[in-house]
Amino acid sequence: MSKNREKNKKSTKSLPSLREAWRLNRKALMFYYHTNPKLILSKILSTLWGALTPYVGIYLAAQVIEELAGGCDPVRLRELVLATLLSGALIALVSALLGRFAAIVDSSSWCSYDLSFSQKMMELDFPIADDPETRRKLSTIRQNQNGVGMGLFSALYDFERLMQSVFSLFGGLALTLSLFSSKVPESQKGLTFLNSPLFILLFLLILTASSFLSSLLATKADSYSALYADTHRLANRLFSYFGFLGGQVSLAADMRIYRQDLFCKKYNEDKTDTFNSKGIYARLAKGPVGFYASASTAVSILFLTGCIYVFVCLKAWAGAFGIGMVTQYISAISRFSGSIGSTFSTIGHMRNSSSFIKLCFDFLEIPNTMYQGSLTVEKRRDREYEVEFQDVSFRYPGSEQYALRHVNMKFKVGQRLAVVGQNGSGKTTFIKLLCRLYDPTEGVILLNGIDIRKYNYREYLSVFSVVFQDFSLTDHTLGQNLAASSTYTKTHAESCLVKAGFGERLATLPLGTDTYLGKIFSQEGVDMSGGERQKIALARTLYKDSPFIVLDEPTAALDPVAESEVYVNFNQIIEDKTAVYISHRLSSCRFCDEILVFDKGKIVQHGSHDTLVADRKGKYHELWYAQAQYYAKTPEAEAATI
Ligand code: ADP
Repeated sequence: MSKNREKNKKSTKSLPSLREAWRLNRKALMFYYHTNPKLILSKILSTLWGALTPYVGIYLAAQVIEELAGGCDPVRLRELVLATLLSGALIALVSALLGRFAAIVDSSSWCSYDLSFSQKMMELDFPIADDPETRRKLSTIRQNQNGVGMGLFSALYDFERLMQSVFSLFGGLALTLSLFSSKVPESQKGLTFLNSPLFILLFLLILTASSFLSSLLATKADSYSALYADTHRLANRLFSYFGFLGGQVSLAADMRIYRQDLFCKKYNEDKTDTFNSKGIYARLAKGPVGFYASASTAVSILFLTGCIYVFVCLKAWAGAFGIGMVTQYISAISRFSGSIGSTFSTIGHMRNSSSFIKLCFDFLEIPNTMYQGSLTVEKRRDREYEVEFQDVSFRYPGSEQYALRHVNMKFKVGQRLAVVGQNGSGKTTFIKLLCRLYDPTEGVILLNGIDIRKYNYREYLSVFSVVFQDFSLTDHTLGQNLAASSTYTKTHAESCLVKAGFGERLATLPLGTDTYLGKIFSQEGVDMSGGERQKIALARTLYKDSPFIVLDEPTAALDPVAESEVYVNFNQIIEDKTAVYISHRLSSCRFCDEILVFDKGKIVQHGSHDTLVADRKGKYHELWYAQAQYYAKTPEAEAATI
C-alpha cells in the first residue's frame, strides 16, 4: 500500500449505537451544566425565542394579505401593520439581548472547556501525565477540536440545534393545524379527496418519510468527516508542526545550514496533497459526500417542498381558505417539515460525534492511582531529616528493563551528596523516586523512618527544591518565576539571584526582578541565555527555602568561570540544607561529603572522593581518569615521568 493510501485510510471503527450516542451527548451536556449552568439557560432562552418568533411574522403577514385580498378594512389593516412593526421591533430587541447574553456566556464556556483539559493534566499523577498514551489522548482531542470540529462542545451545539428543531416543530404545527381542518367545499367534486383523513395521513407520511430520507442522506454525507478524522488529524499534525517550523527564530540558522526548509516544504506539500483539488477530501466531495449532500437537497426540494406547494395550492384553489393563508401555510409547513429533517440530522450528527465525546471523557476520567497518605511532614526547626532507600528497584511503566536495581542508601540533612555515573545509569530516575514523582516498583523509601507514601503528597513535595535538567521557566517576571506566584518578596528574590551568580546581570536590568522573561507579556521583556536561565532556576530553588535541594546537572549550560563560581560558593549557596548534586562531570562533585556511583541502575560504589579515586578497580577510578586525561595525568603516567 502506498504511503498516501495508507495516510488516507478510512476508519474501520463502527459508530456507537443511538442509545450510547444519546448517553454520551447527555453526559457532555451535564459537563457543561456543571461548569457553567448559565450557558444552558442562555441556550434554551435564545433557541426558544429564535425558533418561535419567526411564526409571529408569518402569521401577521398572512393576516395582512388576507385583509388586502378580502375586506380591505383600513382600521384592521392599520392595526395589523402596527402589530407587525411593534412585534418585529420587540422581537429584534429581545433577540439582540439574548444573543448578547449567549455570546458572553459562550465565550467564557470556551475558556472553561479548554482549561478543564489542562487542569486535568495538572491533577494527574506524574507517571500518568508522563505516559505517552495520556499525551496522545490529549493531543488527539485537541486535533479533533481544531481539525474536524468534534469534541465535547459538539454536544452543546447539537443540543442547541435539537431544541431549535423541536421548538420550531411545535411552532410550525400550531400554524399548520387549520390547514388540515379547513375543508374544500363539497361543490369542488374532484378535489374533496383533500378533506379525507386518509389522504391527510398519507400526505403527512410522505412529508415525514422525505424529511427522514433527506436527513439520512445529509447525515451520511456528514459521517465522512468522522470516518476520515484520522487522515485529517495526521495531515493537520504534519502541517501544524512543519508549517510553523520556518517561523521559529531559534531554528533559522539550522534551517539554512542543513536545508531543513526543503524538508519542511515536502511535508507541507504532503498536507496540501490531502486537502488540494486531487486530495482525499476533494475526491470525497466529488464522490460520495457530494452525492449524498445533493441527494439530500434534491429529496428535500422535490418531495418536501413539491408536495407542500401542491397540497396547499390545490386546497386554496378549491376554496378551502383565502390567498393570505397560502403564504402562512407554505412558510409554516415548510418550517415544520424542515424541523423534522433537522431533528433527524441533528440526531445523526450526535451519533457521528459521540466517539469524539467518548475520547474526551476517556481522558477527563483517567483515575489517579498513586497512594495518597495523610501524615503531615514535620516542619523541624533543626531540619533533622533523614532519607533512606531500602532495596529500591524501579521500572518505568510499560518498560521491561529496570532503570534502578536494589538501591540501598541513607543520607542526612546537611550533607552534600553527589550522584555520579554515565548517561543512562539511573541518576535522574533516582531523583524522580526521591521526589515521589514515581513510586518504586519494589522496595521502600523512608523519610525519618516513615514510608514516604504515607505522607500528604503536597507536603512531602514541599520538602524538595529541584533544578531538573529540562527545567522550565515561564514568561512571567523574574520575581514571579522565583516565587511561582504573582506576588513575591523583592529582597529575598534579589538575594537568591545574587547567590546563584545572577547578581551582575540583575544590576543591568532597569526593572530588576520585575523584568519579564521573554517578550510575550511585555516589549521590555528580556530573552535570557541558557546559562542565565540555569542561574535563575538555581535561584528559584533557593527562594523556596526547602530542606532538600536537588541539582541535576546544574552547571551544564554555564561557562567555565560561572561553573567554578558555583563550586566555590556552593556551601554559601546551599547553607544548612541538604544538597543532592547530580553530574557526570566528576570534577564538579569533589566538594561533596558522600559520592554515590551509579552504573546500569545500581549503586556500585559510595564514599568520599579520595577513597573512591584510590580504588583502582572501581568504576569511579575509571570514570575519573577517563575524564581527567584531558587536564591531569593518570598515576601510571605520573609514575612514568618520575
Ligand atoms: P541518567 O540520569 O543517569 O542519564 P536516567 O535515570 O535518565 O539516566 O535513565 C535511566 C534509564 O531509564 C535509561 O535506560 C533510560 O533510557 C530509562 N528511562 C529514563 N526515562 C524513561 C522513561 N520516561 N520511560 C522509560 N524509560 C526511561
